[in-house]
Amino acid sequence: MYAIPDCEGCGACCSFSWEWPTLIGDHDGDGIPAYLIEDGRMRCDGDRCAALAGTIGDSVHCRVYADRPLVCREFTAGSEACHAVRAHFGLDE
Ligand code: SF4
Ligand code: SF4
Repeated sequence: MYAIPDCEGCGACCSFSWEWPTLIGDHDGDGIPAYLIEDGRMRCDGDRCAALAGTIGDSVHCRVYADRPLVCREFTAGSEACHAVRAHFGLDE
C-alpha cells in the first residue's frame, strides 16, 4: 500500500509528459480556454502542462482545475503511477 502524497506540494503528473493530458471525446476540456489547448490535448511547455502554476515539488495548482481533462480526474494520488512520476522528479524515497 502506498502513502497518499499531497498534490498541492507535488505537480509531477502534470509535468512528466506532454502527450499525457489528452482530451477524450467531444466535451472533455469544455470550459478550458482555447489558448491552453493544442492538437486535442493540453498545451505544454516541454513536458509541463501550461495550466500548471507554481513550483514542482513545492507548491502548485491547476489553473483549470474545475474543468480539467478526464485523464487528470482519473489519475489517482497514491497510485503506483503517481509514485512512479514522483520518483522521476526525486519526490519519492
Ligand atoms: S503525481 Fe500524485 S501526488 Fe503528485 S500531483 Fe500527481 S496525483 Fe498528486
Ligand atoms: S490540466 Fe491541470 S490537472 Fe491536468 S495536467 Fe494540466 S495542470 Fe495538471
